[in-house]
Amino acid sequence: MKKLYNRSYFFDQGLRFECKRCGVCCTGDPGIIYIDKNEVARIAEYISVRDSRFIEKYLYPVRAGYSIRERADGRCLFYQDGCSIYPVRPSQCKTFPFWFENLRSSRIWRQVARECPGIGCGSLYSKEQILEIVQLKMEAVDKSYFCKIRDDTKNQEYQPHQDYNTEVSNGRN
Ligand code: SF4
Repeated sequence: MKKLYNRSYFFDQGLRFECKRCGVCCTGDPGIIYIDKNEVARIAEYISVRDSRFIEKYLYPVRAGYSIRERADGRCLFYQDGCSIYPVRPSQCKTFPFWFENLRSSRIWRQVARECPGIGCGSLYSKEQILEIVQLKMEAVDKSYFCKIRDDTKNQEYQPHQDYNTEVSNGRN
């Protein structure tokens, strides 16, 4: 990682970002929302369900880990007039937009900025802070990919884009 800090990037002078809570990154095209074992426990506690129930109802397996399910229109299951688990949202969500894939060039960053109105606003993140966030996101994805967090649950069949509108009114049940 030290090597990464010594290199020069288009964001050497930092980048401004402040989440506007617009929900663009929580909706739209379907995608994987990685979640690790600690996040499973934290979110399950927040919405007052047992871990096993949370996994069964809200997640689907991805390799050795899980992703949060989405509704038919691609919205995260926990997005309804805002993120209903915002204080305990997964690392993947917390670290957006400072993802490796978004920072590969200034051109790609500008493309992301067209979708995310928070880019260019608010606090200035230094190069070092940005690289720390990039690393956090990469670790979160690695954990979800390679950790055995499904050992204590029965295998479930993945039903993509099942509509849970009636079941999730505010992320608590
Ligand atoms: S698109 Fe950007 S501003 Fe909107 S919720 Fe996502 S991170 Fe926040």
